[in-house]
Amino acid sequence: MVVLDPAHGGTDAGARGEAVAEKDIVLQIARSARAALERQGYHVVMTRNDDSNPSYDDRAAMANGYRDAIFISLHVASTGTPRTVRTYSMSFAASAAPLEAAGATSARPASPVTLVSWAEAQRPYVAASHRLADLIQGEFAQAFAGSPSISESVPVRALRSVTGPAVAVEISSISTETSDALTASGEPLGNAIARAIMALRQAGAAGVK
Ligand SMILES: [Zn+2]
Repeated sequence: MVVLDPAHGGTDAGARGEAVAEKDIVLQIARSARAALERQGYHVVMTRNDDSNPSYDDRAAMANGYRDAIFISLHVASTGTPRTVRTYSMSFAASAAPLEAAGATSARPASPVTLVSWAEAQRPYVAASHRLADLIQGEFAQAFAGSPSISESVPVRALRSVTGPAVAVEISSISTETSDALTASGEPLGNAIARAIMALRQAGAAGVK
């Protein structure tokens, strides 16, 4: 089971290109990636399939409703080497530079421990997410030449409340690529993710931790 999270939506357009907005491109990419993953036998759910903008908590709750789901948040950067892709996993270290996707925490009034734990629900999965992020990034390095070979750990708001392996993926870039070129990356992206998840499963089955 894979939960694809097209970031932004609605009044939150995300990064803007000349005639395109990140929120629209990530939705197109998610749809192609979904088709590619489904062809490989994965069950795929999307946190949005229209121009809505579910909250971070709503998106995490959707993923947390499934057992053994893998959560992948999709972004298009406004910078970076054209046609490269980077993968991020959650870091709770306060010193790391936040990803563009890392927004302010919930504006809800502070109250109890349950909110604190919800905000750090990803913590027990940090190692698993990092392993998945590296596997995905290894596939991206081959599918999208010029991409880095390892992932990065940064605070990502979209990941912090997910109770399972969770990564954010960022494609470059909305300022250099046409929307067609960006949306065409959806299929190779989905295939690369499928290969990475298979490698994760095989490592798990072999007892590699
Ligand atoms: Zn974004």
